[in-house]
Amino acid sequence: RGSGRFFIGGNWKCNGTIDSVTKLVDELNAGSVPSTVDIVVAPTFVHLERVQRTLKGPFQIGAQDCWVSKGGAFTGEVSAEMLHDMGIPWVILGHSERRSLCREDDELVGMKCEYALSQGLKVIACVGETLEQRDSGHMWDVLDAQLAAIARHTSMDHWVDLVIAYEPVWAIGTGVVATPEQAQASERLEGPGAACEVHAHVRKWIAQNVGPEVADTLRILYGGSVNEGNCGTLANLEDVDGFLVGGASLKGPSFIDICNAQN
Ligand code: PEP
Repeated sequence: RGSGRFFIGGNWKCNGTIDSVTKLVDELNAGSVPSTVDIVVAPTFVHLERVQRTLKGPFQIGAQDCWVSKGGAFTGEVSAEMLHDMGIPWVILGHSERRSLCREDDELVGMKCEYALSQGLKVIACVGETLEQRDSGHMWDVLDAQLAAIARHTSMDHWVDLVIAYEPVWAIGTGVVATPEQAQASERLEGPGAACEVHAHVRKWIAQNVGPEVADTLRILYGGSVNEGNCGTLANLEDVDGFLVGGASLKGPSFIDICNAQN
């Protein structure tokens, strides 16, 4: 397990109306969360300012993506320096939906990470394999290539501001989260079982390729169908330093329960 604070991210994706965002913020503000956990929610760009104005601490705010370099003639994009200027501390980069739907490749994600870090943002960098990659035996190559691109671009002194989210694509939004017992009993590890083996692998890879000090402190989050029912089990897994939550982060009471997963 990394030596940093437990971390919970909530990725609201492309969801929300003024009414629903107001309700969600009210629910979060009314909830009780431990002061020992870093909590970051990521609304859409258009809702960032409202959430920043209304959401109280200890909740922090993140964006779901940003441009790969300095802003300018890049229609439709939002730059890292704009987010920093607005006082948005975090950004999610390399989410599997951006990798698959917007064709972001490993190299672009690595470059985005370093540019955002260089502009003073903290980064949640996502990695993860598809079911096809897992079943065809390419999972470790895919993960290593994703990590290598991030490592190739990230300066040594920026690692302190980066967390890695391992999100197996087959577990995102699918409800597929096996119990550790099931995982042990089955040939192919799923859900928490997969989280255990991959998280251990990621930490080892970082130790060997970046450095043991970085690996010791790096927070490695698990993402994929985390909810209020399974978060307690997941929080106890070796090398799981927190979660990146999609669907359940849109429900205030569920997300508050997940923030209390360690209790
Ligand atoms: C995600 O997309 O980051 C995610 C983990 O989604 P869900 O929790 O809905 O599986």
